[in-house]
Amino acid sequence: MKINRHYQELKDSYLFSTIAHKVSAYTAAHPDKSVIRLGIGDVTLPLCPAVVEAMQAAVAEMGRKETFRGYGPEQGYDFLADAIVAYYRERGILLDRSEAFVSDGAKSDLGNILDLFDKDNTVLIPDPVYPVYVDTNIMAGRTIRYMDANAENGFLPLPDEGVKADLIYLCSPNNPTGAVYSREQLKRWVEYALENDAVILFDAAYEAFVRDPALPRSIFEIEGARRCAIEFCSFSKTAGFTGTRCGYTIVPQELQRGGMSLNAMWLRRQTTKFNGVPYIVQRGAAAVFTPEGQRQIRENIDYYRENARIIASALRERGVWFTGGENSPYIWLRCPDGMGSWEYFDRLLEEANVVGTPGEGFGKNGEGFFRLTAFGDRANTEEAVRRIARI
Ligand code: PLP
Repeated sequence: MKINRHYQELKDSYLFSTIAHKVSAYTAAHPDKSVIRLGIGDVTLPLCPAVVEAMQAAVAEMGRKETFRGYGPEQGYDFLADAIVAYYRERGILLDRSEAFVSDGAKSDLGNILDLFDKDNTVLIPDPVYPVYVDTNIMAGRTIRYMDANAENGFLPLPDEGVKADLIYLCSPNNPTGAVYSREQLKRWVEYALENDAVILFDAAYEAFVRDPALPRSIFEIEGARRCAIEFCSFSKTAGFTGTRCGYTIVPQELQRGGMSLNAMWLRRQTTKFNGVPYIVQRGAAAVFTPEGQRQIRENIDYYRENARIIASALRERGVWFTGGENSPYIWLRCPDGMGSWEYFDRLLEEANVVGTPGEGFGKNGEGFFRLTAFGDRANTEEAVRRIARI
């Protein structure tokens, strides 16, 4: 019997446990201080009324024999797939219903998609990065090549023609850096992928935060992407579904590799290993796409966007270099006075009683940088900004 030894190669993630440990030690020693958390990546506003009503109606349906539903289609109900197709159509992107797969969130799909690819593929991953891309590939024993995201390239690395990659992870708007690729930059990635027969795994979990019409919200805005990209989307940050769980992945019919259709493979994978998202949750998710739902989630996103603007403008006034803060809920700043990420973390905690996330936790290029999030409460965000400015 052989165990998957690649699990031994995973680095323990001490980031959030170290933060929690430091914060609780500080609050225990200073019970009179109120600590504000701007480190979390979770949302704080509740589900919007349109979603709650749709889910309540679905619960009632499930409680009546005539309308009860058991197993649904593994890839999602047509009513939700159709709503997703319509959401893309509004942006001029034409999808077929068979290309939208509903899941319990982007994280699962980002991990599970690797079932479709051989272990010997070379994977290109930006550094710093959302850690799921790295760990899921280490678990599978794949070779990872890192591409440097740094202040010089605005934390938006572009293709290096000298590097041959098979799978490429792109996340825009980016977690942790808040940076957003332009159409021109994504075009270069699509061209590179087509030339190298590579597949782009495009994480669009934060697309709803993009309001600048000049910036792309989907890789499928780029010509040729249907032949080289898969897109991962989530209701988590868009509509407060972090605990409710729902997302969707777009696998175009044109996407073929090695004579096989990735859409057909993904359908086979999902119907074999996944039994679908609860009907009640899918009804809630579909309500996000109604005019009422869109208006309500927009209000919530605007609330977070305003928090981001408040943080960003305070940093700008003080000449602190940062990315994000616009078209993104994340602000990624250079630690002042050449401080290290953890050094700045300690300083903010002790002197301003504000908690953020040290950039180093997202990869080596994150050292010297720091992530603040806009998902907090408005009054707390304003107070945190005042305190940071003071020190
Ligand atoms: N992708 C990115 C870049 C994220 O930051 C997150 C969550 O923080 C996810 C995916 C996970 O989304 P979900 O809640 O849909 O699994």
